[in-house]
Amino acid sequence: MITCEEFFAEFGDYLENHASPEVCKELEFHLSQCRACHVLYDSGRKTVKIVTESNSFELPESVSEPIIDRVMARLRTGRS
Ligand SMILES: [Zn+2]
Repeated sequence: MITCEEFFAEFGDYLENHASPEVCKELEFHLSQCRACHVLYDSGRKTVKIVTESNSFELPESVSEPIIDRVMARLRTGRS
């Protein structure tokens, strides 16, 4: 199974449907096993939905990066 870091590395592409089918499979498997990443996925997906429904179709880095930063920070504090 891939690590959370590998998950985060591909997560942006996955949300924007740019990831390859193999990568999607890995990420979906990780999601099914990892609660922390599942929460991130859920909030990320909702953000994408809000962004796509409010005109701009692309998810800008300024939107996706704060989410990832926040969850990464939470993961770090939760583990140490
Ligand atoms: Zn994870």
